[in-house]
Amino acid sequence: NKILDYVREACDIEEISFQTWLKPLEISHQENNTIYISTGSDNPLSIGFLDKRYKIFIKEAIGVLTGNYYNIEFIKPEQKITDQQEKAMHSPAQTQAMIQAAKANLNPKYTFDTFVVGSNNRFAHSACLAVAESPGESYNPLYIYGGPGLGKTHLMHSIGHFILEHSPNTNIIYVTAEEFTNEVIESIRSGSTSSMSKFRDKYRKVDVLMVDDIQFIIGKDSTQEEFFFTFNGLHSAGKQIIISSDKSPKEMETLESRIKTRFEWGLLADIGFPDYETRMAILRKKLESSDITFSDDILSFIATNIKSNVRELEGALNKLIAYSKLINEDITIETAEKQLQNIISPDKPKEITAQLIIEVVSDHFQVSMEKLLSTNRSKDVVRPRQIAMFLCNELTDSSSEAIGNLLGGRDHSTVLHGAKKISEEYHSNEETKNLIDTIIKKINPN
Ligand code: ADP
Ligand code: MG
Repeated sequence: NKILDYVREACDIEEISFQTWLKPLEISHQENNTIYISTGSDNPLSIGFLDKRYKIFIKEAIGVLTGNYYNIEFIKPEQKITDQQEKAMHSPAQTQAMIQAAKANLNPKYTFDTFVVGSNNRFAHSACLAVAESPGESYNPLYIYGGPGLGKTHLMHSIGHFILEHSPNTNIIYVTAEEFTNEVIESIRSGSTSSMSKFRDKYRKVDVLMVDDIQFIIGKDSTQEEFFFTFNGLHSAGKQIIISSDKSPKEMETLESRIKTRFEWGLLADIGFPDYETRMAILRKKLESSDITFSDDILSFIATNIKSNVRELEGALNKLIAYSKLINEDITIETAEKQLQNIISPDKPKEITAQLIIEVVSDHFQVSMEKLLSTNRSKDVVRPRQIAMFLCNELTDSSSEAIGNLLGGRDHSTVLHGAKKISEEYHSNEETKNLIDTIIKKINPN
């Protein structure tokens, strides 16, 4: 009805036409991103006409109301649905739940079905399930905490979906603390009392409030104040509140203590790092939803190297999936290692040592280390050696004695002499300057 109301206003249609043409429309089912709308049994309008005249308004209405843009297909009510379509489609009740979920800001991928339970999250998972089964009646508030990428948001959304599937009319709001803060600021800035009361009305009406990453409100006075009142109002009315944070209430030292205390009224559930078995299970589960298979070796390689963040675990897997699709071949451990280099050992700024400089210089001039460190006095060895002396002198704390020792046991005056010669050239000769700058880039790419 809301969709139709929107369309009625948007296209300014006569009441009688509305009643005969639009009123009979019914949402039939949904398949992936398409919503099928039945024209209704005795609708005089043809599908072609509906397409031309009203489709765009209906699409817009659904988009505005749910926050998601779907394709719209009109179908005749008697249009037969094949078995395969039947398998892929959702019942009207499910469609309704999906529309509600979209309105509540819930990611359709984050459900209990797609969540892997392991020793690190078993307790939090049961607590969330209990809350989902009887919101407001078991643990209130439920406070979930743990490091980044460990599944807090996933669990919160799962609760939301579960509740909507069982009672589609529950009013659920999921917000990040950042969004909540922005709403507070926005209603304060607009200055009118009506915008503030609109904000309060919205939150007073909810049955289930989820605020993600609550640590964000620390230090924001008016947000804490507003949150405090929202919390009290809902809690005393027996409405369910679910909070997530990267820290336990105790650890949030500068959060107002009256808020901290309230968090401790309910149940605190922490999520830790997943163990190896859980990481493997998560990878297998994620792989299920793609059409790619990987050997256990590859999965084990990922699980062994990424331990403390499921988001990164997933990112690594997705990268390999994308790559394997691209090259259209099975991935080997070597390719996996290469592809995941940045994720597994992200470019740490390398410490600049005399050793590193000598290696880079050797590589740049294609003069072997052996030659650089030898007594060879030919021009194509002496110059790179002096450049190495200069760079070691400029870029490291090593003494000229130490540099001399590394460079094949030369004494410190030889080092200082070489460094000085290049330094003068560096400041007088554009070409030398460019050469040296290029080598410095190789030593320190950042
Ligand atoms: P957080 O909110 O704690 O930072 P998220 O809930 O956003 O973490 O999780 C990060 C990613 O890891 C998401 O894509 C989520 O689906 C996935 N994830 C985390 N834990 C699990 C788990 N136990 N099973 C399946 N996926 C998980
Ligand atoms: Mg999160």
